[in-house]
Amino acid sequence: MIAHATEGFPLEVCGILGGNGDTVSAIYRMTNTDQSNEHFMMDPREQFAVVKELRAKGLEMSAIYHSHPETPARPSEEDIRLAQTPGVSHVIVSLATAEEPVARSFRIGDGIVEAQQMVIIP
Ligand SMILES: [Zn+2]
Repeated sequence: MIAHATEGFPLEVCGILGGNGDTVSAIYRMTNTDQSNEHFMMDPREQFAVVKELRAKGLEMSAIYHSHPETPARPSEEDIRLAQTPGVSHVIVSLATAEEPVARSFRIGDGIVEAQQMVIIP
């Protein structure tokens, strides 16, 4: 995610994480059709293809990630408003401090944001 965010800088990048339960095991880089540094929109056809592939592999969509090239790793008002995927986490990668990218995960539902712990399993 951080590599994707860095490569896509200064634009926002987005992608999908797949896994089972609380464990993520697959990453899919998606096209930000907005090509913006402030928001993102996934290509619905690309998203559909990934959902299909996840299903074929017995995986669930665990999270949607996107980068904040210049702002902190917390959901923007728009992120909160547009989060309409219950059960799917939202991971934000911030490059606001270039030397120190930050990734944080959130559950967002009904306008309520709840931070989640993320652990990297070697
Ligand atoms: Zn955002």
